[in-house]
Amino acid sequence: MRLIIMGPPGAGKGTQATFIAQEFGIPAISTGDIFRANVSAGTPLGVEAKRYMDAGEYVPDSVTNSMVRNRIAEDDAKGGFLLDGYPRTVAQVAELDSMLADAGLELDGAVVLTVDSEAIVQRLLKRATIENRADDTEDVIRRRQEVYGEQTAPLIDTYRERGALVEVDGMGEVDEVTQRVFAAIEGLKG
Ligand code: ADP
Repeated sequence: MRLIIMGPPGAGKGTQATFIAQEFGIPAISTGDIFRANVSAGTPLGVEAKRYMDAGEYVPDSVTNSMVRNRIAEDDAKGGFLLDGYPRTVAQVAELDSMLADAGLELDGAVVLTVDSEAIVQRLLKRATIENRADDTEDVIRRRQEVYGEQTAPLIDTYRERGALVEVDGMGEVDEVTQRVFAAIEGLKG
């Protein structure tokens, strides 16, 4: 399976991505996690990415695209993968299309988690007290929602038009959402 999971910041993509990865035996590739690992390790990529992340802005496509291209070429991604947090811009969609075409592969589908926007701001503020992420302050959270609305939400239509979109209600208990997500992915296979 080659899948992407989309949804606004705080929708629970990372949580569901982990369960999907286990269930379908594919790696969950989170661009946010890769950036954070680079920030922690103090790599040049991390230093570059941090400036944008701390402000709630997207890291430039040139940086993100080459990082993903390298990551999906690794051995563990040969049999499939789930991308969490990529693509997030129109240019990233084009880049992913070309990465897949170069390898003679196709995407099986895009899962979108739909959530209530005020509820997720509250979720993120709660997470801030637990995980201590630099981009989980209220101003930055609101900026991330804005950037998502401007740059990423329009991609949902792109995947819908391609007939590869499954929309899943992301509100409710984590387990319930997971069951809905699994059912939606099974539907894609059929
Ligand atoms: P969230 O979805 O909660 O905002 P992520 O962990 O997915 O969190 O991403 C955190 C930050 O990492 C984003 O706000 C952005 O700065 C950067 N980032 C992650 N993925 C991308 C991407 N595909 N393109 C550009 N920037 C990205």
